[in-house]
Amino acid sequence: MRNSLITLEDVSLVFARGWPSRERVEAVAGVSLNIPEGGILALVGETGSGKTTLGKLVAGLYRPTRGRVLFRGQDLRAMDRRTFLEYRRAVQLVHQDAFAALNPVRTVYHSLKAPLLHHRLARTERDAREQVAALLTQVGLTPPELFLDKYPHQLSGGQRQRVLLARALTVQPRLIVADEPVSMVDVSLRLSILQLLRELNRRLGIAILYITHDLATARYLAEDGQLAVMYLGKIVEHGTFREVLGNPRHPYLQALLSAVPIPDPRIARSMRPMTLQEIDPPDPRRPPSGCRFHPRCPYARPICREIPPALEGPADHRVACHFAAEIPPWHPLSAASPSQWA
Ligand code: SF4
Repeated sequence: MRNSLITLEDVSLVFARGWPSRERVEAVAGVSLNIPEGGILALVGETGSGKTTLGKLVAGLYRPTRGRVLFRGQDLRAMDRRTFLEYRRAVQLVHQDAFAALNPVRTVYHSLKAPLLHHRLARTERDAREQVAALLTQVGLTPPELFLDKYPHQLSGGQRQRVLLARALTVQPRLIVADEPVSMVDVSLRLSILQLLRELNRRLGIAILYITHDLATARYLAEDGQLAVMYLGKIVEHGTFREVLGNPRHPYLQALLSAVPIPDPRIARSMRPMTLQEIDPPDPRRPPSGCRFHPRCPYARPICREIPPALEGPADHRVACHFAAEIPPWHPLSAASPSQWA
């Protein structure tokens, strides 16, 4: 069993704003997860589910309102300065919007040189240039001389995303938090970015937290790792990727799966999409009582409005649903209708 790199223990984060109303949004609500050294965790959910906020908590950009974030077993809040700096180097965030994340008036070389010099990983200008060239080669920007002196606007979306990955690698991280890294890249280039992430994981043992709304790319990257499904700030289903996708139990995950397009029209025509009670997610400022999914859930019963379900089950497959054991297993071609179940 691998050692734990990042552990979240009952982590919550509340944003409050405005006066005197003090509007509160609980973006992350009681999340417990573990990312092992060299592991891959795909965090999946729709917009507003809190997955980006959770990624920023893992990267140390936000502090939890409640609960603890541990790095190699040490609480971030109790760390001395040296260990905290080690953690900040070890965990690197790669943003969705590579264009916004790169300084438009800096060349690729200058963007990548800065962290090397800041962390004293390069002593001289020549050393820095050699290291940056090696990093560009590592992320597939070859020959590096073609890219060193280019500005972000002179690169394609896929090349900018590779530069961001190279910048993350400058400080020899142990975990990359990749927040929708392929959502703004041409479909034809997505696979190559995902392959690069997989290669960094396999060759260098870098753990990946892959944040996405796209189950297909999550499957490509994290098939041997873990899958966590997030809804309105809570993890509703979690376990090994194969076990969770092989036997999806939570109605929200079943609905996500039923929305994945099937390229073969003959199969697509026979599919039975799962119909939710409501299409739009609730206002996160006023999350529903009990199970937060109950206004949309086709299986909801009175208890669902009253009591929040706990995330329960064996470590390889936990589900937060009062009726997880009774809801029919889901498959696109044999999905039982919720009305039959009731
Ligand atoms: Fe649906 Fe109830 Fe399960 Fe929530 S607890 S997912 S409302 S059946």
